[in-house]
Amino acid sequence: MRFTFHPHADYLAHKDAIDTAIQRVLASGHYILGPEVAGFEAEFAAAIGVDQCSGVGNGTDAIHLALRACGIGAGDKVVTVSHTAVATVTAIELAGAIPLLVDIDPATYTLDPQKLEATLRSNSGVKALVLVHLYGQPADPECVAIARRHGLRVIEDCAQAHGSAVAGRTTGTWGDLAAFSFYPTKNLGTIGDGGAVLTSDAELAARVRRLHQYGWKERYISYEPGLNSRLDELHAAILRAKLVTLRADNARRAELAAIYTRALSGTAYTPPAVPAGVTHVYHQYVIRAPRRDALLAALSARGIPAAIHYPQPVHLQPAYAGRIALGVGGLPATERACGEILSLPMHPHLGEDAVQYVLAALRELA
Ligand SMILES: *Cc1c(COP(=O)(O)O)cnc(C)c1O
Repeated sequence: MRFTFHPHADYLAHKDAIDTAIQRVLASGHYILGPEVAGFEAEFAAAIGVDQCSGVGNGTDAIHLALRACGIGAGDKVVTVSHTAVATVTAIELAGAIPLLVDIDPATYTLDPQKLEATLRSNSGVKALVLVHLYGQPADPECVAIARRHGLRVIEDCAQAHGSAVAGRTTGTWGDLAAFSFYPTKNLGTIGDGGAVLTSDAELAARVRRLHQYGWKERYISYEPGLNSRLDELHAAILRAKLVTLRADNARRAELAAIYTRALSGTAYTPPAVPAGVTHVYHQYVIRAPRRDALLAALSARGIPAAIHYPQPVHLQPAYAGRIALGVGGLPATERACGEILSLPMHPHLGEDAVQYVLAALRELA
């Protein structure tokens, strides 16, 4: 069985549209903050359902800029999870803030609302929540309500969640701002790095637009210290071509996920739990498996590209171990999950034959 890999398969699936988009930008002579970025910003804001979108250099910068736009910086505490891409925590520290990491709900792998409430009751100086919608699974909306009651700003980390929703409410519209990544393997990805900050608050949007380009309001005049983090015209043009199929691509992921879930229910493997009313967009299809490491090795030996997202929680990684504040009760669900999770092959161009091959191997290895 030959497995196709997502970024390349995705390019081939969109080859004509992407090649045309690239040629259009090359011929236009406009390479930074031109009509493609403006066009993509308007189209992506409309697709998610917010008023404003600012293209930025990548998803890490998007979170960093969203925090800065809220005035969060040195000495401010920001709560998030340890079970995430390290970029979430990187961005909090880039803003000068102090991460406070809270445990997850073991069923959904996203922030546990009860642990969040307990942590906010026993910590002062917490200014914001970065709510991660991990694997394409929206976090529990109750977390937003809890953060609001405690007076926090809410920034959604939507890097893995383009188009996911709860009861029809699309992620990226829940908080004050939302950060997206367009890294090649994300549900909406370009041929390189890209990101965006979304919001319906005009003032916050204006601040992101200043901060992402040196603090400029008008050219060459900085009104506050900023950085350079821009979405390129080339990437914006490619993203416009790919945004057209985001919905269909997510629907295909959900079809493949349904095949996995049907076959794995009632076995030793635990498929993702998807609460009623939730639209999961399956950035990853993550199961729990007994003797996970041996299983991963056996799948790899059969040529199956399974993986672990992520093998070490952020608070145990060398850069952070021993110096990161943890929420009330520590992070037992996070630490346990890291030893049991396994991401099965998942992307919209994966064939059903590949899914059946994985399922047959799992049955044999059970
Ligand atoms: C990919 C990712 C990011 C960072 O995005 P980059 O574009 O790689 O900087 C942040 N958070 C999560 C959850 C991610 O998966």
